[in-house]
Amino acid sequence: MMGRRYFRSCAESSERITENDAIGGSKTLSCYVGIIVGPKLSMPRIAYAILSAFFLSAPLFASADVVRDIVFPVKDNFTYRDDFLEPRGGGTRKHQGNDIIAPKMTPLLAAVDGVVSFVAIPEAPWGYEIELQDDQGWRYDYLHVNNDNPGTDDGLGGPEHAYMPGVVRGARVSRGEPIGWVGDSGNAEETVSHLHFEIHDPNNQVVDPFPSLVAASGGKGVSANAPRTNVVEPTFEERKAQLRYIFSKELNMGNESSEVRQLQLILKSLGYFTYPSATAYFGPITRDALVNYQKKKRIPETGAVDLLTRRALNTDLGTWDPNDYIPFYNDAEKKALLIAQLRQQIAVLQERLKALQGY
Ligand SMILES: [Zn+2]
Repeated sequence: MMGRRYFRSCAESSERITENDAIGGSKTLSCYVGIIVGPKLSMPRIAYAILSAFFLSAPLFASADVVRDIVFPVKDNFTYRDDFLEPRGGGTRKHQGNDIIAPKMTPLLAAVDGVVSFVAIPEAPWGYEIELQDDQGWRYDYLHVNNDNPGTDDGLGGPEHAYMPGVVRGARVSRGEPIGWVGDSGNAEETVSHLHFEIHDPNNQVVDPFPSLVAASGGKGVSANAPRTNVVEPTFEERKAQLRYIFSKELNMGNESSEVRQLQLILKSLGYFTYPSATAYFGPITRDALVNYQKKKRIPETGAVDLLTRRALNTDLGTWDPNDYIPFYNDAEKKALLIAQLRQQIAVLQERLKALQGY
C-alpha cells in the first residue's frame, strides 16, 4: 500500500509522515527538517554530491510517454487532440492537460479505481471540479464540470447537475463508473463545452495525458481539427491557493491588488460578483457586490473589506477544510521530497553495487 502523501506543515512537529513511495522502502520521517538534517548517509559525501548532481540534472519525474491504464473519462461523442503544454493566454501560460470536446451533459467516467480526493462544492471560481486519486497516488483532475440546468446555459445547475449522486469527497469509485457531466463551468463559459483533463504523478507533477487517452480510446476521437478552446485554466497550485486564501487586509474603493482579485473571485463563487472577469481593481461593481454580501451576512454595509467583512469572508472560506484537499508542496517541501527521493535512489544504487561486488 501507498504511504501517506498528504504532507502536512512541519510546524506541527508532532505530525509524522510515513513515506514509502518511489523505491518501496518504508520510512517514518518526523518532519521535513528531519529529512534534510536527518541521519548521515553511509555513502561518502563526494559520491553523494556526484549522484545529486546527476539526479538533479536529469529530470526526476518522467513527464512524457507515461501511459496510465485508464478508462476514457468521457463516455462518447468526444473529440480531442494533443494540446498539452500548448501556449495559452497569449503565450503567458502553458496548457496543463488535454481538452476533450463533448456535448454538455455527456457522462464523465471515473478513469480509475480510486477515491474522490476533491469535489468543488460550492462551485469554485474555476468551476465545478472532480479530482480522483488512484491507489498508486496518481491524480486525475476533471475541470469545467457542468454548471447548467439541462438544456440551458444558465450557470445555475448546482452540484446535482455537476456530479453523480454519491460523488463526494472520500467516496470510492470504480473505473468506468459515471461520476459527473461534461459542461462549460469556470472560464469555459465562452467556449465549447469540454472536459479539461489533467494527470498528476504522485509527486504532483503534471504529465501529458494524451498517450493514456489515446490508449484508452483506441485512437477513437483523435482529430487535429478538434476545436481549440484557448481556455487558460488555473494550475493545480493556483486552485488550491485560492481555497486556502485568508483575507488579512483592509480593502477600499480604488484599491488595486491581488487581494482585490481574490475578493472578486470569492464573491463570484458565492454569486455576488457578476462581472465576467476578476480585474483586481476595486471599483463600483466590486463595491456593490460586497454590499450585497454584507447585507446577506447582516453586517454593516460599508462597501469596504473591514474587520467584520474579513471575518465573514474567512469564515465562508473556512468551509474549505484544509484536510479536505491535497495540499500542494511549497518550495521547502519540494526540496525535502527531492532529498528523500535522492536518498532512496542512493540506497538502491548501494544495494546494486553490493550485489555486483558479491560476484
Ligand atoms: Zn484545458
